[in-house]
Amino acid sequence: MRNYKIAVIPGDGIGKEVVPVTMDVLNHAAECFQDAAFTFTEFPWGCDYYLEHGKMMDDDGIEQLEEFDAILLGAVGDPERVPDHISLWGLLIKIRRSMEQSLNIRPAKFFKGLASPLADPRDFDIMVVRENSEGEYSEAGGRIHRGQDELAIQNAVFTRKASERAIRYGYQLAGERKGKLTSATKSNGIVHSMPFWDEIFKEVSQEFPNVEATQQHIDALAAFMVSKPHEFDVIVASNLFGDILTDLGGAIMGSIGIAPAANLNTNGDHPSMFEPVHGSAPDIYGQGIANPLGQIWTAKMMLDHLGEFKMGESILDAIESTTAAGIKTQDIGGDSSTVEVAREVCDRIKFKE
Ligand code: ATP
Ligand code: MG
Repeated sequence: MRNYKIAVIPGDGIGKEVVPVTMDVLNHAAECFQDAAFTFTEFPWGCDYYLEHGKMMDDDGIEQLEEFDAILLGAVGDPERVPDHISLWGLLIKIRRSMEQSLNIRPAKFFKGLASPLADPRDFDIMVVRENSEGEYSEAGGRIHRGQDELAIQNAVFTRKASERAIRYGYQLAGERKGKLTSATKSNGIVHSMPFWDEIFKEVSQEFPNVEATQQHIDALAAFMVSKPHEFDVIVASNLFGDILTDLGGAIMGSIGIAPAANLNTNGDHPSMFEPVHGSAPDIYGQGIANPLGQIWTAKMMLDHLGEFKMGESILDAIESTTAAGIKTQDIGGDSSTVEVAREVCDRIKFKE
């Protein structure tokens, strides 16, 4: 029997509602499968903790987290009471940076029973691999002059190491899925970093002869995701391009409340962290109506990372059969509560050989 040690940080707002029911789903799946168990250790870190202790997490928080197999996080942020730069940098970004979680993996997929803005979202099932540590979101640059001559310079930073890491992961993932990898580029307009990215994309392709590799300019790619969404499998993108494409992917699915994400440490020297795309949603917190599916699907990604593929697959099937049966929270057009949806997912988990 494998026993996984999971650090759980519910965090703020609806994180405190969707994380507990997700632990129920994981425990239920473990009972069904009988070959793995979870030991959850909860950490009370977040904005309440900050208001009481003057810090978002313990000083030795990172060391405490090191001993776990994975971290399951809800959401961080309570902008009415704690400024975002304190809450995000004091917990979320601190963990991502200290633990070198340099890839952000975000799937998007159409589920029966969801209302997509696309006329034909069937077979929409993609995985975006987003470089998460550098690129366009760099601090290099500045502003000079005043008045008519005022100007701002923003430098993008692309290292071979980080670009190669994201691209290679994209190829590996495509090889495990439908064998198609699309690289988001813009080398006709961005003349240094993007040709460099394209070069690495071609180089790494030699290692994966069975993956069909194409590159597309980001503008055309965004349009194709809407006009022919079923043609994509895995997309690898820089920090900014990946950010934009994953929001688009979430919109095609129907709600941000369903979208999952993983922050991966690909060296295997620190734990990876699994957190849904949505935030703490203070506007609906406390009403018991938050959609738990994003968090539950995020837990499925954690299971894949731990190598528990069958268990993960059974959770994804249970999510899909729950939405198809019309058991949904308000954000996706239903009237069920957080707890009701999660209970339904539990009831629909089936053992797979
Ligand atoms: P943060 O700063 O923590 O990211 P935010 O306000 O920027 O918070 P979200 O918390 O993701 O972003 O909320 C955006 C909108 O989506 C809100 O109206 C929120 O109620 C809604 N929303 C987010 N997550 C869910 C969910 N799981 N279920 C239902 N609605 C959600
Ligand atoms: Mg926000």
